[in-house]
Amino acid sequence: MNVEDAVVDAAVTAVRAAATVGLGAASPSGRYWTLDPIDGTKFVRGDQYATALALIDDGEVVLGVLGCPRFETAAGSGVHFVAVGATTEAYSSDDPTSQPVTVADPGSLAAARFCESVEPGHSDHDQSSEIAARLEISTDPFRIDSQWKYGALARGDASIYLRLPTRADYVAKIWDHAAGKLVVQFAGGTVTDVDGEPLDFSRGSTRAGNRGIVATSGALHDEVLAAVQAVID
Ligand code: AMP
Ligand code: MG
Repeated sequence: MNVEDAVVDAAVTAVRAAATVGLGAASPSGRYWTLDPIDGTKFVRGDQYATALALIDDGEVVLGVLGCPRFETAAGSGVHFVAVGATTEAYSSDDPTSQPVTVADPGSLAAARFCESVEPGHSDHDQSSEIAARLEISTDPFRIDSQWKYGALARGDASIYLRLPTRADYVAKIWDHAAGKLVVQFAGGTVTDVDGEPLDFSRGSTRAGNRGIVATSGALHDEVLAAVQAVID
């Protein structure tokens, strides 16, 4: 079975399991799967999307799978990530041999590249450019739909991912972040919310206790957080 078939197989198994136990069964304790079958609202116009599957055990994400069929690399199209144990591995559509991936430290903030949502309604672009200016980052942001952003960070295509709240009343869903967060963490990166708090997956299907996302390759995290906090409300 190739990797894409395996991801689809796992997704179908998770949907069947969810249907068996009842959708919406996410809870603070116990073990359950969370699935975003098509993450990235613009996939219909041919843009990026991801299939994201995660296993949550007593509020901790313990396994994450991100299928990114349109992730372009020099080797071709399609990169899929599996975070389990303590490592993140990636597979390409053309070659199902797994390779560990690790975040890339840009050495200095000025050399860092950041990624963010394409949709300004999902992450504040004006604030991110103010943050980039403070950090003396001169490269343009890498704008990508979906949890592909976490994959890009995990394999070193970017070293900062900012998701800056646009509305006080928006509550993020666990399926939009669980798999991606583990993919970055097991690749050596750091993921918090904009207040520097760890992401809380113990509140059922929402992450009501968190605001936004700051994910980095690790060493930069505190400096990036300080700039974020200086700019956002
Ligand atoms: P992205 O492709 O990273 O921009 O994110 C897509 C996800 O953003 C979707 O799966 C939605 O669940 C989520 N979303 C929808 N509205 C908002 C919002 N106002 N702020 C942040 N995320 C949102
Ligand atoms: Mg989604």
